[in-house]
Amino acid sequence: MAVVHVALPIHLARTFDYLLPEGVSPIIGARVSVPWGKRQAIGMVIGHSQQSELPLEKLKPIHHFIDQNSLFSDALWRILRWASDYYHHPLGEVLFHALPVVLRQGKLPEISQKWLWVATEQGQATQLHELKRAPKQQQALAALQQQTLSREKMDSLQISGQALQALRAKGLVELQPQTVTAVDWRPCFAVQGERLRLNSEQATAVGAIRSEDDRFAAWVLAGITGSGKTEVYLTVLENILSCGKQALVLVPEIGLTPQTIARFRQRFSAPVDVLHSALNDSERLAVWCRARSGETAIVIGTRSALFTPFARLGVIIVDEEHDSSYKQQEGWRYHARDLAVMRAREEAVPIVLGSATPALETLHNVALGKYRQLNLTQRAGNAKPPQQSLIDLKGQPLKAGLSAALLSRMRHHLEQGNQVLLFLNRRGYAPALLCHECGWIAECRHCDHYFTLHQQQRQLRCHHCDNQRPVPQQCQQCGSTHLVAVGVGTEQLADVLPEQFPTIAITRIDRDTTSRKGQLEQHLAEIGRDGARILIGTQMLAKGHHFPNVTLVALLDVDAALFSADFRTAERFAQLYTQVSGRAGRAGKPGEVLLQTHHPEHPLLQILLQQGYHAFAQQALLERRSTLLPPYTSHIILRAEDRDNQQAADFLRHCRQQLESNPLSDQALWLMGPVPALQSKRSGRFRWQLVLQHSSRRQLQQLLKTSLPAIEALPKTHQLKWAIDVDPLEN
Ligand code: ADP
Ligand code: ZN
Ligand code: ZN
Repeated sequence: MAVVHVALPIHLARTFDYLLPEGVSPIIGARVSVPWGKRQAIGMVIGHSQQSELPLEKLKPIHHFIDQNSLFSDALWRILRWASDYYHHPLGEVLFHALPVVLRQGKLPEISQKWLWVATEQGQATQLHELKRAPKQQQALAALQQQTLSREKMDSLQISGQALQALRAKGLVELQPQTVTAVDWRPCFAVQGERLRLNSEQATAVGAIRSEDDRFAAWVLAGITGSGKTEVYLTVLENILSCGKQALVLVPEIGLTPQTIARFRQRFSAPVDVLHSALNDSERLAVWCRARSGETAIVIGTRSALFTPFARLGVIIVDEEHDSSYKQQEGWRYHARDLAVMRAREEAVPIVLGSATPALETLHNVALGKYRQLNLTQRAGNAKPPQQSLIDLKGQPLKAGLSAALLSRMRHHLEQGNQVLLFLNRRGYAPALLCHECGWIAECRHCDHYFTLHQQQRQLRCHHCDNQRPVPQQCQQCGSTHLVAVGVGTEQLADVLPEQFPTIAITRIDRDTTSRKGQLEQHLAEIGRDGARILIGTQMLAKGHHFPNVTLVALLDVDAALFSADFRTAERFAQLYTQVSGRAGRAGKPGEVLLQTHHPEHPLLQILLQQGYHAFAQQALLERRSTLLPPYTSHIILRAEDRDNQQAADFLRHCRQQLESNPLSDQALWLMGPVPALQSKRSGRFRWQLVLQHSSRRQLQQLLKTSLPAIEALPKTHQLKWAIDVDPLEN
């Protein structure tokens, strides 16, 4: 009798054994339907043998195999198994996380039938003016007399589904199944559109990557903002694609701009698929299938696109590799950049990690010889790096957070017909609402954090937990009606600026103004069209965008970042500052960057403005080394939450005892905690953590791994919300 070992998508660090019926051969990496309690569950076969820890007569037989082949390539399988181990996350959850939702539910990996709207003969013959009382139907029929319409096309032409149904009822249009025959893009592959002449640094970078493009090589493309990194990616892809191989391009969550996608689509006559958050589950599955069969040439996507299967993967590109959205912060806390390097190695393909501000970890890997660095130090074309200076705010009167010096520079740039970008990383009207009589401040009870005032919606909102409520009329402590907004957010800035610049159009881009589909694109299009204009934005505006007319970038209020308890804040600020200031002067016009601060002498600002990001990074790495912080040591954080501010800390204290009593624990191990997390309360839960630090990543891994069985056996382990965060980015 054969036994199959099955991983289930549940949060338990173990697998389950089932019997294999006679004559059925086990397929590793295939899904099986198995009995689970009184129900059926979907699991993944991860191995088989003749034995089980349980007596064979206690085992139940599997119900059936869902797949006839493994869903994973050998390379992906090895990476996922390794990652389950490295991140100490249950294998079943890891494997199922790497699959599209539809497959997790047990459906077959096939592209579902697509439908097309077509005009019937009667519809073709109908005169459009007959429909003039129903303009939406008229518009729909007009379109269908010219062409057939897929759902995507319908959306892009903004044709209403209701209108189509009405036309269908009249017999003027109908739905036809679309015959999708996969065309092989390879024979007719061509590079099209405008190709720029690479400058010598770009050409050197492309040459280096091409010289080893048939094997694993990890490149760091360290190119200042506007140096033409995307042009390098595109040129590298030319060769890869013309050999018939495919490319995976990872971008940060908010870097997935229409501009970037358009550049890939315009360059190649080959299918480009984009995995973005607006896709539904069956569209995601379709991309998965097309990549796996080789039908698509390029897949562009955020973090989870990493798990896309490819028939002939040829290269991986990770754009803005320093971006923290590559780290998953819930559930399985993997880092997509790190796993992408792993994947490139397993698939024996090159990987390019591009950034103007490489992560300190990445620069450290260059120093260790694991990655090789290619530099782009010049801006592409005629663009020059911007002039940068500080405005000392001490004692200055401010209008909505703007100093007189800044207002005057804004006026100057706007008069030239250029655009001004104001960076303020705080959405809403004001970050706090205060009682002028007694000093009471409106606070979210669930997070112990100030409410943000959103004037337009007449609401207080907690930016940590989404708690919302109407703006109170009176102080809850003394009853006074004298409540005042303190501080400035993007909404207030957009409200106040017209007083200063009555004739200038203003665009505000933050999560509140771009929440509806298509809004961001609309704002970006406005910016692209117009001359003088003020752009107000949070970090959504910082990255990836290319605004040729922006010549002045101002950072209004960044002082909080200079004084933080988190040792990573300086790195994050340096990256943000460099990225934001990189929006200035990207075309031929000279750019200017102004930073308002109360601390112009602060060493972080001094080194950034005078010597730039790489000098900062070298210094920060020296500091990390002397203080024994990552990347010179390894961190793992055990996190736990509770509602009574008692159990989580207790649990972590027990974890600490287990770790300390483990025979593998040695002098090089340093445990800190349990201590409250930096954000110590969120949504009514108290958050605690235990930080594990060790000079050897391997030993730390071993130590935790061998302690986990005892930790799993602690009485509270399964009642508490807790997690393991390997290589954490948050404290
Ligand atoms: P990055 O991604 O490094 O910030 P981009 O790739 O967006 O930079 O390039 C910035 C601008 O410079 C784009 O408008 C791009 O078309 C242009 N550009 C890139 N390479 C060249 C080149 N070799 N010659 C002229 N313009 C270039
Ligand atoms: Zn009061
Ligand atoms: Zn809250």
